[in-house]
Amino acid sequence: MDNFFFVELPPIATIVSPVGSMSESPLDRVWKEYGREFASLDDLTLARWMAQSLGQLQGRVWRMSHPLIGLYRLLGQMGHDRGVWLKRLAAMPAQYSEAACCRAPLLPLFTRDILESGLICQHCGETAVAFEDLPDEVKSSAKAWAEEYAPIHEVAHWEESQRKRCANYDDEFEQAARGIERLLARASKELMPLFMESYPTMVWEDHDECLEVRPEDIEL
Ligand SMILES: [Zn+2]
Repeated sequence: MDNFFFVELPPIATIVSPVGSMSESPLDRVWKEYGREFASLDDLTLARWMAQSLGQLQGRVWRMSHPLIGLYRLLGQMGHDRGVWLKRLAAMPAQYSEAACCRAPLLPLFTRDILESGLICQHCGETAVAFEDLPDEVKSSAKAWAEEYAPIHEVAHWEESQRKRCANYDDEFEQAARGIERLLARASKELMPLFMESYPTMVWEDHDECLEVRPEDIEL
């Protein structure tokens, strides 16, 4: 009973991570359905599963779309709703510190909103580490990256008048999407190692729904 999936899980193929797209809400419904399948887990089992999973995730950089991360987030949010970490039912792996937002182990998600929202908690969804509180070594690199990202991302949100100013907006959009794919790959390869010097595990957002960039578009 000591392996990673010591609770009975639905087939892995059904546990796909939410990919932002035009159809967010049907996907949200599916995730709620997955959640209901785990609702009968008691707090102790849930706490042990989370502690064990954090140990398994440790020491690596993960795509947000990775099935294990999708599953962890689903159960982590359930644990947060039930206040499982506050009940101290299982010891958190020693490498993890306590997140200031909700006192769960700090499992940070890096997103394109790093400057405004900092690193996001995978348990409560709030800011776990504000940008100002990031280690100095990573701040300048993350800031440069985010400032390169923002204007390219903005192409998706151009007003009609702006769109008319370029020769072909579809081409412009395509080009922006390709640029974002490269930037996200760079976040994974260049920024994440810097964060890993301060955090035991990192998750990065591997999509941009506004520019229709999907996880499978990002080559590492
Ligand atoms: Zn939190």
